[in-house]
Amino acid sequence: MDFEYSEEQHIYRDSLRKFLDKEIMPLDNKWGDVEMTSERAKSLFQMLIPWGYVGEERVNDWVISCIMSEEMARVFPSLGGCAGISTSAGRMIETRAHADVKAHLARPLINGELIGAIAISEPNVGSDPSSIECRAIQKNDRYIISGTKCWISNGHIADVVVVVAQTDPSKGPAGIRQFVIDRRETPFESRDIETIGLRAFPTSELFLDDVEIPETHRLDGWGDSDRKQDPAKSFGRVLRSIAAARIGTALISVGIAQRAFEMALKYVGERKQFGKEIGRFQLVQEMIAEMATDIDAARLLSYRAMQLIQLRDCQTEVSMAKAFATEMGVRVCNKAIQCMGALGLATEARVERCMRDARMLTIPDGTTQIQNLIIGRSLTGMSAIR
Ligand SMILES: Cc1cc2nc3c(=O)[nH]c(=O)nc-3n(C[C@H](O)[C@H](O)[C@H](O)COP(=O)(O)OP(=O)(O)OC[C@H]3O[C@@H](n4cnc5c(N)ncnc54)[C@H](O)[C@@H]3O)c2cc1C
Repeated sequence: MDFEYSEEQHIYRDSLRKFLDKEIMPLDNKWGDVEMTSERAKSLFQMLIPWGYVGEERVNDWVISCIMSEEMARVFPSLGGCAGISTSAGRMIETRAHADVKAHLARPLINGELIGAIAISEPNVGSDPSSIECRAIQKNDRYIISGTKCWISNGHIADVVVVVAQTDPSKGPAGIRQFVIDRRETPFESRDIETIGLRAFPTSELFLDDVEIPETHRLDGWGDSDRKQDPAKSFGRVLRSIAAARIGTALISVGIAQRAFEMALKYVGERKQFGKEIGRFQLVQEMIAEMATDIDAARLLSYRAMQLIQLRDCQTEVSMAKAFATEMGVRVCNKAIQCMGALGLATEARVERCMRDARMLTIPDGTTQIQNLIIGRSLTGMSAIR
């Protein structure tokens, strides 16, 4: 165990932070709280390529991956979310798609030339993804996909969507498969759903109305016998991808909280009441101390989960990180507003946006309640989920 960054990690973090503060923070001030467009997202992704946040260059160091997610969320959380989801869709296609689909779509998604989304949730399907209603009906060498997907990150601006659909309801989860819809070839309607925060990270509804795709656009079941993944186990892979996404969400929350904390810390050092800086009052110091400790605890849980997921199944640790970090984000941003008094509530001071952005994260990738049920199940050996 090592609780210090290596020299290389320190250098990476410092130079990344310098770049993000100078180049990306002003763009967040301009576009971070308004609807994202496809063109804007793609041009912003290109700015992130040299840092490995988007692009072919794989980052092998899990600590650097954590630093990237956290630092990106500190300056432009919506952009971090957009890029994270898009490259995840690219990597799914890279590892599990038919060779033709992979050749066309994986690189452009990973390189930020196309925008990707992953569509599981539906109007009637939230915490229980095994109850997918969206249907995929096979007709010869094609599938016809119909259903509505809801709350899909990037959905409205996505060129390519990995969609989870049921091929045979009588089989339950074993009938669930994932499909790649290239919207440029098979268009469908969508709409952006306005939300309290992360407003530049589209949360969308997709209307898949008899979208017809080639059979080769199904994930799994391709490649040689060594690499071939059993399509009947696709649902397990859906759940595993959600587990990995939980760590990303936890780190976004850490980054947002860190930004709010920095604003509050600066303010209490400058603002004077009763003839002295408010940071000299013990009750203000208590808020500062609680915020810093909360952020560090969430950071450590998130980094631990990221390290463990490289080594073994660690659902419990992942759920601890996700639940704690996202609830922490709301707590810390709330305290940051309190430290800043009325100014904290003003849109122009920016800290209120941290609160709105942080509030978005206790719901996706499994709500706090679902994370706690996963932790409870592993500790007691009894499932309370159903
Ligand atoms: C910002 C954001 C981004 C998202 N991005 C995506 C995306 O890219 N792709 C995608 O497919 N989906 C996405 N989602 C959807 C997300 O995964 C769902 O919102 C989430 O799984 C919860 O589902 P729900 O909102 O339908 O709530 P519900 O499942 O209806 O839950 C409502 C309430 O009931 C509680 N509850 C439910 N079941 C239980 C239980 N067994 N025990 C105790 N309490 C329970 C929940 O904790 C919650 O408090 C996103 C959501 C948000 C907010």
